[in-house]
Amino acid sequence: MTNKHYAIIGGGINGLAVARQLLLDFPEAQVSVFEKEQDVAMHQSSHNSGVVHAGLYYEPGGLKARLCRRGAELVQQYCAENSIPYDECGKVVVALSKEEEGRLDAIYMKSLANKVPDVRMLSASEIRDVEPNCIGTKALYSPRTAIVSYGEIARHIAQEIKSKGGQIFLGRKVTSLSEKNQKITVHFEGNEHHGTQFDYAVSCAGLQSDRLAAQSGDIETPKIVPFFGQYYVIDENFKDHVKGLIYPVPDPKYPFLGVHFTKRIDGQMTIGPNAFISFGRENYSGKRINISDVYDFLTYKGFWKFSSKNMPAAVRELKTVLSQTNFVEEAAKYVPSLANVSAVPATRGIRAQAMESDGSLVDDFVIRKQGNITHIRNAPSPGATSSLAIAEYIVREVMTHH
Ligand SMILES: Cc1cc2nc3c(=O)[nH]c(=O)nc-3n(C[C@H](O)[C@H](O)[C@H](O)COP(=O)(O)OP(=O)(O)OC[C@H]3O[C@@H](n4cnc5c(N)ncnc54)[C@H](O)[C@@H]3O)c2cc1C
Repeated sequence: MTNKHYAIIGGGINGLAVARQLLLDFPEAQVSVFEKEQDVAMHQSSHNSGVVHAGLYYEPGGLKARLCRRGAELVQQYCAENSIPYDECGKVVVALSKEEEGRLDAIYMKSLANKVPDVRMLSASEIRDVEPNCIGTKALYSPRTAIVSYGEIARHIAQEIKSKGGQIFLGRKVTSLSEKNQKITVHFEGNEHHGTQFDYAVSCAGLQSDRLAAQSGDIETPKIVPFFGQYYVIDENFKDHVKGLIYPVPDPKYPFLGVHFTKRIDGQMTIGPNAFISFGRENYSGKRINISDVYDFLTYKGFWKFSSKNMPAAVRELKTVLSQTNFVEEAAKYVPSLANVSAVPATRGIRAQAMESDGSLVDDFVIRKQGNITHIRNAPSPGATSSLAIAEYIVREVMTHH
């Protein structure tokens, strides 16, 4: 039993999952969530592909591999227990050439090492049994990959937190956390601070996580460099051309999964997301430029090193940014019957992707403890799938509750 005071910064799915886990493990604890927006889950947690990843791609033994597998089970269970829609629509990762087949075999080996249930390889003709309109030379099939709405799950968790006695404060932007004599003060914009002092704090600030960590005395790097991903919704009349999820074999030099067909839990079929540098960390329209966000990455030597190493992939992605036709063409390589489908731009998502100063993108989740403050410094995809397991990990393995 503990009746300690906990402050959680960030009301995305990870912050909410941590608050819930604390209340589950320590029903007497006093848990406060501080979120800068007027509602929970306004950023990555409601701007994503909605896929419950089964754990195919991740380095065996790493946090992503472990927490994605556990997280996928917990998300499925949470949806079942709370009557939240969950569709096990399955996924194919499709190779189009011999070279891609080699990379696909490597992903298959990883998925076996990660004990992903029921994965198997499909020959070119077997692909059509799963996705009748899809072409490829070989595919990896994961029948247990599913889709959900993480926004809905997050809002459900928020209700659960309140029903268990936790508090969620909206419109409260935290500027820093400070710790003295094992007591933590939460500082807000406008020089206010919350009357209560806290015993522990967990910062789950997504796109702002590096800034909040550095302002609270943690190390400066890795820094978040925002990459947006645009989605398009395809013409309703063509959505049945794809049954579930169709992904390309990821380019190992560019650590995003590539433009894919994603069925949505609301029944829409989307294409996306591409991946290109965003001129604002929270700029979903793409029309405005946030000077301080742009200044941040332009003055980061890691960004220039990353750019020089990834020019060909960046040019490929830029083509899909500049031309909707090119975007659809990329996806139609897998489903030729959709080559001329009309599509309308849907939302963008912006990834909180951490980058080291040598220009490498941080692959695994990074969760750091500094005194009694824990910072999530990197939780990109499959961060939503993993959220309930990330929460277990932070509450049971990273934090101490003396
Ligand atoms: C395009 C895209 C596609 C993706 N697809 C998938 C997918 O299919 N499957 C999957 O598992 N994952 C996916 N992800 C990743 C997933 O969305 C994230 O890993 C997950 O949502 C991260 O949750 P979070 O709570 O850490 O961050 P967020 O949801 O970004 O929440 C952080 C919260 O902190 C708040 N905050 C920030 N700074 C402060 C401050 N100073 N004071 C108070 N509050 C603050 C923000 O307002 C925000 O609400 C995708 C991400 C993107 C962008």
